[in-house]
Amino acid sequence: MFKAFLVKYGEIGIKGKNRHLFEDCLMDQIRFAMRRIECPFEVTKEQGRIYVEMMDSFDYDEVVETLQHVFGIVAICPVTVAQKGDWDQLCKAAGDYVDEVYPDKNFSFKVFGRRGDKRFPKTSMELAADLGEYLLDRFPEMHVDVHHPEVSLTVEIRDRVFIYSISVPGPGGMPVGSNGRATLLLSGGIDSPVAGYMIAKRGVKIDAVYFHAPPYTSERAKQKVKDLASLVAVYAGPIKLHIVNFTDIQLAIYEKCPHDELTIIMRRYMMRIAEKIALSEDSIGLITGESIGQVASQTLQSLRATNAVCTLPVYRPLIGFDKNDIVEVSEKIGTFETSIQPFEDCCTIFVAKHPVTKPSVRAMERSEHHLKDVIDELVQTAIETREIVVCE
Ligand code: ATP
Ligand code: MG
Repeated sequence: MFKAFLVKYGEIGIKGKNRHLFEDCLMDQIRFAMRRIECPFEVTKEQGRIYVEMMDSFDYDEVVETLQHVFGIVAICPVTVAQKGDWDQLCKAAGDYVDEVYPDKNFSFKVFGRRGDKRFPKTSMELAADLGEYLLDRFPEMHVDVHHPEVSLTVEIRDRVFIYSISVPGPGGMPVGSNGRATLLLSGGIDSPVAGYMIAKRGVKIDAVYFHAPPYTSERAKQKVKDLASLVAVYAGPIKLHIVNFTDIQLAIYEKCPHDELTIIMRRYMMRIAEKIALSEDSIGLITGESIGQVASQTLQSLRATNAVCTLPVYRPLIGFDKNDIVEVSEKIGTFETSIQPFEDCCTIFVAKHPVTKPSVRAMERSEHHLKDVIDELVQTAIETREIVVCE
């Protein structure tokens, strides 16, 4: 019965020129998200509304679920389509729609007319009144309530007639690509995939960097991070993942720096390398899964010491989240099960028993001074030898 979907999107703050960018971006994202749908479809924009029209028979649940992953969509309304030439036929189509969608007719309703085509012989008010009358005749159990109807049936006159009353919630947010590009430091944990999801939801295109330390970390651990990137990509679109071999840098730090500072110094090099990669990819921000106080490397002093090596802004969308809240989001978006697979990540191998919790920037710089003969070349090599995969 459904032939199309009306896509509703948030309009606050997207007035003027930005509105077109937003809409075009949303249409691109819808087309991309639906690339695996077998049925041919068309995405069109008309009078500030976006429609996805299905050209053949299709799997309703599959399409709705796909659209529910497209940021920027606030609601998805499945639509039935009628011809507008013949009033009786239009009424019949609306009646058949009601009959099928609401087997139990004991409800209140109101008809909303929207006349996109001003040549249509009835005004919006007449359209609503006359169709309401037809429906009351055909289904006497239904009754009209113009103030608080249980069912709002909208009939839109365009080149054809669009009839709908159901609204399925979308994910909200802004379409990916409408707000620039940033680089996610993606580990195999619970937090960073959630952080990437949250920033992508604001319309930001995401790249990712993963640091591994073979042979201390395994191929399985690397595969897990690729899997996580693919799961985030269900929402964020394809993610270009840079896999950086961090082993020699970690060994150098281990050999030359105080062990209680290993984690912070490592984190500082991760940030430096991620920033260099980001800048070479026209990405203008870094994203991490850090949250205040979660571990020793995320105290305010540690965050300051880590932050001090970056010039790009670092977005930490989970900064005020409790672990429980992060877990909840990760379950909702489908990354949790993968995140908890027990593969070592490169930080856990070189962690000290008693890491510093109040590192000063000066102290870190002094310790890093011990690396001065080797580190530039190691960083350069790590960047040059990185592996790049696109996860989708
Ligand atoms: P997560 O659950 O995201 O792994 P975490 O609680 O384990 O986070 P840390 O290991 O201290 O926290 O890492 C803090 C942040 O640093 C991570 O959220 C991630 O953004 C980044 N990070 C940590 N390890 C790596 C890694 N191996 N590769 C890329 N980024 C990393
Ligand atoms: Mg981690």
